[in-house]
Amino acid sequence: MAERIIILGGGVIGLSTAFELRRRGFEVAILEIHSFGGQASGAAAGMLAPYSEIGEDPDDFFRLCLKSLRSFKKWQQDIKEVSQLPFEYTESGSLHCIYHEADLLSMETRQSWQKEFGVEARILEQSALKQLEPELSNEIIGAIHYPEESHVYAPDYVKSLEVACEKSGVELYDHLQEIKLHEWENSIRLTSKDGRVFEGDQLVISSGAWAKEYEDVFSLQFPIYPIRGQICAYQLEPARINHILYSSQGYLVAKENGTLVNGASEDIAGFETSVTEKGIRRLTNWNYHILPFLKQLRPFHQWAGLRPATQDGYPLIGRLQQANRVIFSAGHYRNGILLSPVTAEVVADMVSKQSTSIQMERFAPERFS
Ligand SMILES: Cc1cc2nc3c(=O)[nH]c(=O)nc-3n(C[C@H](O)[C@H](O)[C@H](O)COP(=O)(O)OP(=O)(O)OC[C@H]3O[C@@H](n4cnc5c(N)ncnc54)[C@H](O)[C@@H]3O)c2cc1C
Repeated sequence: MAERIIILGGGVIGLSTAFELRRRGFEVAILEIHSFGGQASGAAAGMLAPYSEIGEDPDDFFRLCLKSLRSFKKWQQDIKEVSQLPFEYTESGSLHCIYHEADLLSMETRQSWQKEFGVEARILEQSALKQLEPELSNEIIGAIHYPEESHVYAPDYVKSLEVACEKSGVELYDHLQEIKLHEWENSIRLTSKDGRVFEGDQLVISSGAWAKEYEDVFSLQFPIYPIRGQICAYQLEPARINHILYSSQGYLVAKENGTLVNGASEDIAGFETSVTEKGIRRLTNWNYHILPFLKQLRPFHQWAGLRPATQDGYPLIGRLQQANRVIFSAGHYRNGILLSPVTAEVVADMVSKQSTSIQMERFAPERFS
């Protein structure tokens, strides 16, 4: 009989893992205290942009992101095929814009180490850049062009994942409000506030910014904390931008529905997901240095979400040595959408007790304990 896996948390990480485990033949139940995709995953800008995000030397985290980016095309096709619910996946490429001559050197350094990983990256001067994106500000002196970087429309991606899970036979339970873990040594047993009992053979904890609450249960340190991201969107008619526009102060992503998403500020506000004037002003005070026409426009929509940040910036993914039925998979911070396929693959390998081809030691969940 197939093993039964219980997953805690119905964000992009929990849903992706459920989808992958189910197609490998496991019985899967996913338990969510609120609604599926209702937290960070539904709030994300949806960029699949490791080359823009990771500027320092390559490490295992870069390799993890790279693998995920390169598996995304097939992954999103598989989800759409099962869910029959389309979502936007655009291979737009990105332009990482710079404003000062001095930044050129760091761009060249980046380009040279990225080349070793087969990354296509071209440094463009202003005139070439303007041919790709004529609306860019004259303040931008150049950019690095990454044709491979892409984006999804995150709320639709997560919805499609939820439907794919449902159609493939994952048991989905939402609005459980409170879940207690009673047994994890000889089997897995949890109860929800309304008295339902959930039993299984292995447990995956993927509760994002809330995962720290399991520190006391396992007497381990899981230093994960919420970093609020405030973000807004403009309605552009007609759509005028083709690439992800990335800068050190923020990014702009044009979606196929005509919106231009502008993200994202970072602040510490506990588990508060409200939007503040100051947070949005941080975006609107800068974005016209990328696209001058934004100075005349006002965002029509503003929202916020909680990124699950960790003490060292890396996610915590792995089996707990002292609770060997439990796999921890949280703390994906700024890149959880990007990392969803690779996380699902690695966690499914761990559940199956298969060795994984990916270097995961760096992400051991007990490394702080
Ligand atoms: C503004 C913003 C922009 C972003 N842009 C990008 C981007 O462009 N690209 C990218 O790759 N990433 C981006 N991110 C980051 C990305 O959204 C996160 O890394 C990712 O969503 C984390 O997924 P998750 O499933 O771990 O967490 P979440 O989506 O937060 O899901 C965790 C779930 O667990 C539930 N939960 C909590 N406690 C329990 C419990 N005890 N039991 C059961 N369920 C529980 C919660 O209700 C929640 O639904 C962005 C984030 C923000 C906020």
